[in-house]
Amino acid sequence: MAIVVQKYGGSSVADVEKLGRVADKVVAARHAGDDVVVVVSAMGKTTDQLLALAKQVDENPPRRELDMLLSTGERVSMALLSMAIQKRGTPAISFTGSQSGIITNDRHFDARILEVRPHRIEDELARGMVVIVAGYQGMSYRREITTLGRGGSDTTAIALAAALGAERAEIYSDVDGVYTADPRVVADAQHLARLSYEEMQEMAEAGAKVLNATAVEFAKNAKIAIHARSTFDARRESVITAAPSSSRTVTGQKGVARVHVAGGSEALRRALAACAAAHTDPREVEAGEVGASFLVHVGVTPDWQAARGAIEAACGGGARIEEGLATVSVVGDGLGRDAGALGRAIGALEDARLAPLRTATTPMRLAFLLAEAGADDAVRALHAALVDTAPVAE
Ligand code: ASP
Ligand code: MG
Repeated sequence: MAIVVQKYGGSSVADVEKLGRVADKVVAARHAGDDVVVVVSAMGKTTDQLLALAKQVDENPPRRELDMLLSTGERVSMALLSMAIQKRGTPAISFTGSQSGIITNDRHFDARILEVRPHRIEDELARGMVVIVAGYQGMSYRREITTLGRGGSDTTAIALAAALGAERAEIYSDVDGVYTADPRVVADAQHLARLSYEEMQEMAEAGAKVLNATAVEFAKNAKIAIHARSTFDARRESVITAAPSSSRTVTGQKGVARVHVAGGSEALRRALAACAAAHTDPREVEAGEVGASFLVHVGVTPDWQAARGAIEAACGGGARIEEGLATVSVVGDGLGRDAGALGRAIGALEDARLAPLRTATTPMRLAFLLAEAGADDAVRALHAALVDTAPVAE
């Protein structure tokens, strides 16, 4: 009997009616004869609401308590889904992340899974149960409750699929897979039937919300095929595997800040030490003779005001921080070596009167830093110039 791991995102379990439809799907999968493990996200916008609640109490909430709070969202949906499945006559049991044996490091709000010991899940599957697991959470070696970073239920699903020996994971959300750009931003974005782990990972790291970047990294390492599907529309899906593909995609990420550090390497070291102490990841660090700069994704830094203050204090007035920025990236195999493509990208931004603050390439990515207000226009301009809009063969 095969083990199937299904994950349902927040919009798929946003209310009791939708939760019931998910329960019907789970029961159907069980009746098809497979062992079924279901990972759920928090209902609808619950995680955002809990975060907002915490910020009403403290603008820089302590991350340990934030994890205690945020992890409740997934507990609500796991319990309700288990009830809905049992009500349909199929035996089911729900587990938290720690009960599922998901062991993480102790980096609160952004913990990394180190190990999965799914003994209780295996025991319950052997007894014929459908097992429902609260996504996005684990327990550190110090027995503290941790969360896995935004979108972390995907990571739970892939880590469980690997630990249970499943060969694929089905990730259900409100979109039927991966597109060449966010269809809410680019009207003629193309659906991608297949793409490679590398492409998907690069897109997720560039800010695409369809799948969590760590989840894709885990899937690649464990060779688990990801089937990204819409919960309520089964017409098509995107499959992410090791097979090479030649897709090109455009992704924007808002909520970025740039930190400029005046002075030499000593000043940069102090700024980086302040980032480390504040658990704030610096990205795309650049240092030269006249100073240094790096980017911070403020959107995933719950205590940004405190981190910002710490960086400024560490630099003793030598730091300048620009907020309200965005990165827009074009991702594709070999793009970073394609001079023609980079030239077209620069021309397209120029034609749209968008002046990037910074242009950088990596082997798979062309990346532009812009004012947040121009991000959507930049995505559209780059998509029009660089992504083949001819229908992709499905
Ligand atoms: N509920 C969490 C979030 O909104 C985790 C997830 O949805 O995967 O980020
Ligand atoms: Mg969510």
